[in-house]
Amino acid sequence: MGKVYAIANQKGGVGKTTTAVNVAACIAEAGYATLLVDVDPQANATVGLGLSRSQAPGLYEVLCGELDAERALVDSVVSALTLLPAGPGLAGANMELPRVEGFELRLRQALDTVKDRFEYVVLDCPPSLGPLTVSALVAADRVIVPVQTEYFALEGLAGLLDTLSLVQRELNPRLTIAGMLLTMHDSRTRLGRDVEREVREHFPDLVFDTVIPRNVRVGEAPSYGLPVTHHDPHSAGAEAYFALAQEVASRG
Ligand code: ADP
Ligand code: MG
Repeated sequence: MGKVYAIANQKGGVGKTTTAVNVAACIAEAGYATLLVDVDPQANATVGLGLSRSQAPGLYEVLCGELDAERALVDSVVSALTLLPAGPGLAGANMELPRVEGFELRLRQALDTVKDRFEYVVLDCPPSLGPLTVSALVAADRVIVPVQTEYFALEGLAGLLDTLSLVQRELNPRLTIAGMLLTMHDSRTRLGRDVEREVREHFPDLVFDTVIPRNVRVGEAPSYGLPVTHHDPHSAGAEAYFALAQEVASRG
């Protein structure tokens, strides 16, 4: 049975999608069958892997029960990396899902039907703590929380940790935090260094040693429909994501 990682933070623009795509790509490149599920209606992970935003069917049809998850899987540019795209209807799911009895369990049930084929599953969450994120947290074994090393970095983290404990208590006792990941880091600035120190002091033991630097190659890779590890494998960004994937695997 594969291990399921949710990449979550209700803040937008902190590097969730970038982390989901690149961690999934690194694990797949190491030879493990990996599934990336685009749980965000903005479909950035789908587009970042070179597929159309309107790629259908996708997760929407699966959550509605119209389609088996198996039938929505598509191959990606990275061999061993399979994608379950968001699908154009997913934006409506945040409204529709809460009306469905047991909606929080739907994603987990859908993944259970395909999980045996994959050693790792990575879930890219939307920037909210709404029903889609809750569904992802119910389906996950571990959460990775990207934190951008900017002013306000800590803001919202308390709310996220409360949500994680609630999901743990009420819906998914298996859920644990794999770690917080410092992203888009600029170690040349005082602010960058201060925020890193502050986050590490605030959450000792919880922050990954690996830090993702701000790197032009990481930012431009999605416009080529490629993970940075394919776009420029020797860039500082790609090397950081390779190191992170190793750290994630070694933490179990
Ligand atoms: P989220 O999914 O949390 O909203 P994204 O992963 O989409 O965040 O990142 C927000 C923006 O920052 C995107 O344009 C992305 O390409 C860019 N970005 C993310 N990480 C880096 C990085 N390490 N270096 C440079 N740009 C980055
Ligand atoms: Mg995103």
